[in-house]
Amino acid sequence: MKTIIIVGAGVTGLSTAYHLARLKAGRIIVLEQGPIGNGSSSRAGGITCALLWTETGVRARKVATKWFRHLSGELSGYTYHNEHGCLNLFSPELWPTRAALLPLYDRLDAPYQILSAEQIKARWPQLNPPENYLGLHDPLGGYSEPTDYLPALAKRVREFGVEIREQVTVRELLRSGNRITGVRTDAECLSADTVVVASYAWILPLLATAGLRIPAKTFIHQRFVSSPLPGAAAFPPVNADPYLGYIRPAAGNRLLLGIETPDVPDLKVSSFDYRMETLAEPWELVAPAVERFADFFPGIQQLKWESAKVGLLSFSLDGEPIIGPMPGVEGLLVGCCFHSGGFSYNPAVGLFLAEYVTNGAPSIDLSAFLPARFASDETAEYLATSITQGQSFKRRH
Ligand SMILES: Cc1cc2nc3c(=O)[nH]c(=O)nc-3n(C[C@H](O)[C@H](O)[C@H](O)COP(=O)(O)OP(=O)(O)OC[C@H]3O[C@@H](n4cnc5c(N)ncnc54)[C@H](O)[C@@H]3O)c2cc1C
Repeated sequence: MKTIIIVGAGVTGLSTAYHLARLKAGRIIVLEQGPIGNGSSSRAGGITCALLWTETGVRARKVATKWFRHLSGELSGYTYHNEHGCLNLFSPELWPTRAALLPLYDRLDAPYQILSAEQIKARWPQLNPPENYLGLHDPLGGYSEPTDYLPALAKRVREFGVEIREQVTVRELLRSGNRITGVRTDAECLSADTVVVASYAWILPLLATAGLRIPAKTFIHQRFVSSPLPGAAAFPPVNADPYLGYIRPAAGNRLLLGIETPDVPDLKVSSFDYRMETLAEPWELVAPAVERFADFFPGIQQLKWESAKVGLLSFSLDGEPIIGPMPGVEGLLVGCCFHSGGFSYNPAVGLFLAEYVTNGAPSIDLSAFLPARFASDETAEYLATSITQGQSFKRRH
């Protein structure tokens, strides 16, 4: 029987374990340095949209939304909130770039609807866009509460017989020639036929132990949850680029507000011992964001803000995810750099990584996301620089 070790019990690692177990790939062990969801996954807004900007992205998200719907039925305690789809909001200045992608969505049979400001207001009276704004509605989109999804998925994975070991840090990838043979933790060396690295913001120090690297940068990102709204929250998650953020309904009839910070420089995670809990909660960002959203979401100024979550987003050199076998070695797969959309990708990324293990290839063409697409000199150059998030790619869920 084959042994597969997964490093990291965020949504990517757990989803990979789920699909590997479903496909009966062998003995599966997930090693997690903290508790389940220790990284960005427990901090995410959980918004999902299938209308991305590349063919591979759209195809992958169609797979992801299909699996979110499936998991909503299979996992006890988890609901995929697809009741209102997902809305992407555009000012007249921002719309042409997105309008150019409509032929791609048509060709890939990705459903969408273009809504005028009047139509948005009529459908969801709590939203009030300016009259010259447009909405691109994704009926497959929606959101998940990470606090429901993570425990429900972990429970299912354990029912399948997967071992999830929490509070175990992988200190080294064991390498023999051009093969990764397992991992070393503080307590022991574990052999594996395949190691899947799903350690996201911590990936660079781990790959370095095997002399490997990828062009990844991490940026701080934050979202806040309000006191309960006066009425029922009956609107979709809104990716609201004109207001530099996003909103969605949250558990307990609250509002979740995500705020982008384009001027903040990348944060280099160089140790396994780095903890996201050390990030300060940037409450000073809330008042200006509330002001920006005030006309669009009337009543937002009356809300109190009860909680903040701060974590990291990881971006690759070309802004797209890095998924698949690491070049130069055998037995090592990675899944990372999901820009602001790793929660949204996770059921599909887990499937594709599992398919690499069981079939040698994923069920969709993922060549645009392969780690091998980057030359080593451009990787080195990217890692040596420091940039702000605004100088990286503009990407939303
Ligand atoms: C505030 C915020 C809001 C977001 N909103 C959204 C959203 O609305 N929609 C969306 O799609 N995405 C969103 N994201 C992005 C999303 O959270 C991430 O892309 C996604 O969670 C990545 O999942 P992951 O499992 O790959 O990484 P993580 O959840 O970070 O998991 C990696 C795990 O690996 C573990 N680990 C690391 N190194 C080691 C080691 N050496 N040994 C053992 N374990 C190790 C870590 O402890 C961690 O638990 C948001 C992110 C933030 C911060």
